[in-house]
Amino acid sequence: MRPDLTIAEARTKICDLGRLFWQLGWASGTGGGISIRVGSTILMAPSGVEKENLRPHDIYELDGAGHVTRAPDGGQRLTACAPLFMAAYRQRQAGAVLHSHSLDVVLASMLVPPGQPLQLTRLEMLKGLEGVGYFDLHQIPVIDNTALELELKDRMEAAIDAWPRANAVIVRNHGVYVWGRDVAHAKTQAECLDWLCRATVRMHAAGLSNLTHDQSVPDLAARVGA
Ligand SMILES: [Zn+2]
Repeated sequence: MRPDLTIAEARTKICDLGRLFWQLGWASGTGGGISIRVGSTILMAPSGVEKENLRPHDIYELDGAGHVTRAPDGGQRLTACAPLFMAAYRQRQAGAVLHSHSLDVVLASMLVPPGQPLQLTRLEMLKGLEGVGYFDLHQIPVIDNTALELELKDRMEAAIDAWPRANAVIVRNHGVYVWGRDVAHAKTQAECLDWLCRATVRMHAAGLSNLTHDQSVPDLAARVGA
């Protein structure tokens, strides 16, 4: 199948998303990451640079095995996210993988007990996630953070295998890796997940439950005494 973007277009798209993510607070302080696959070529933004100031010639190209095939010549470093991005490409055949340092995701990760996933149900934005419905109990794995980003690789690979229905892995106190079949899909998945985490955190802070007055399922209404 012909890729929906050329490599040149994907380079520009990564720069556009860098600006957008910076504005959203997902990539401030050089954090976060963006990667797009075009056919068998994988493009990644460099590490430690201002994501809002990326230029198309700053972007790395890698092959399907994760080896750099084309590097920018400005002394940049390949993103430390590379092994994490490659996990989603290898294990899920992703078309794009995004890494956000969204504060709402970070706060939501603090509400999840060790070893458990983030559990979401009965929020309309769940329908924006791949294969998820309003009434589903959707689980997104949460792994503990490490001192270095690349040390997350084994945990991320294990979480991707253990939660085959999730297309994201949350890193506690850090952010999220989220992917989709192409870059537009990955972006919408990241947006929905961010909204769901924001809702979770605000509901918790306000002592609200989305189940209290939801009588759309009889057994649920009985269980919560509605
Ligand atoms: Zn990070």
